[in-house]
Amino acid sequence: MQCDICGQHTARTRRVTRCFGEGASTFLIEEVPLVTCASCGEGYLAAETLREIERIRAKWRELSVEKSMPVVRFGDAP
Ligand SMILES: [Zn+2]
Repeated sequence: MQCDICGQHTARTRRVTRCFGEGASTFLIEEVPLVTCASCGEGYLAAETLREIERIRAKWRELSVEKSMPVVRFGDAP
């Protein structure tokens, strides 16, 4: 697909997990489509993805399910 930043047809969509909010309002959205481009190295969210994230953000407490998972903080590896 075409990159919105450089216009080359080298963009691909990857599914990533993103963290939103902070403190007690922190939640994750899984499978967020992140567009990454091999030509310019940019990674960005499409406008429609951002709109969907705003929709989710407005009612994430109803939509979310509790999951327990191990977490590592970057830089904590000895
Ligand atoms: Zn690009």
